[in-house]
Amino acid sequence: MAYSADQHTHSEFSMDSQNRIEYMCEKAIAMGLDELVITDHLDLNSNEMIASLEPAFDAQSAFHAMCHYRDIYKDRLKLTLGIELGQAHDCPDKAKKVLETFGYDQVIGSVHNLRGMPDFYLMAFYKITGRQCQIFLAQYFKELEEIVDLGYFDTLAHLTYPLRYFKEGGHTLSLDPHMLTIRRIFKKLIEKGKALEVNTSGYRKDLGSPLPDLALLRVYYEMGGRLITVGSDAHCIEDIGCDVQRVYSELRQIGFTHIASFTERKIELKEI
Ligand SMILES: [Zn+2]
Ligand SMILES: [Zn+2]
Repeated sequence: MAYSADQHTHSEFSMDSQNRIEYMCEKAIAMGLDELVITDHLDLNSNEMIASLEPAFDAQSAFHAMCHYRDIYKDRLKLTLGIELGQAHDCPDKAKKVLETFGYDQVIGSVHNLRGMPDFYLMAFYKITGRQCQIFLAQYFKELEEIVDLGYFDTLAHLTYPLRYFKEGGHTLSLDPHMLTIRRIFKKLIEKGKALEVNTSGYRKDLGSPLPDLALLRVYYEMGGRLITVGSDAHCIEDIGCDVQRVYSELRQIGFTHIASFTERKIELKEI
């Protein structure tokens, strides 16, 4: 029996979501998912002004709530205790400490903002040119590589995250100038035994592909990359499980046969 999971979702413990965990579980079961991974935002920023833009994340309460519902739903759904750890490279000590404090199953590594800058989703890219956007993109991949080098994660989130917001600003950017860095990131993921996330939100954000797109996933596969996770990045109940089956079918066409599922940060391969 093929496995299906939504490996990137947000609950009410994320400042940008109001999802109650029990409703998330009910939706996942209704969609026939075997596994739901809750990955609330912990965005780290050493710059105090940037950090103060977001309310503090209550890691303790979020963790306890996940444990509570994991036990309630244990016969119907694998509820995986996750976290989306943003900008670990900017506060490595804090990142290390939180991972030591809580027994997460799966850690997603993200860059939502460059050092000392606000989240990409807060920036008005329609005010600048595509050429100027490329400068931000080069810095983004540089900082993403730092996250990979640091290694405080299990799966690397939405590799092409800024493209969502460049697109909203009217820019469709070529990734050609960044392919050397992207290939280096893939090589390091493979060597370190870390997974690459395929984020289905690209379809909902009008990008016409997941993040990263199928061409990049083919490059990863050809380089020997086999560890992948697939998540919707749902911030509302309706988006849970969204486009997961569509992406599985695209991944199978490339040659992928399994996703990496995590328990206590150990990988188990599940056939899709
Ligand atoms: Zn994210
Ligand atoms: Zn997310």
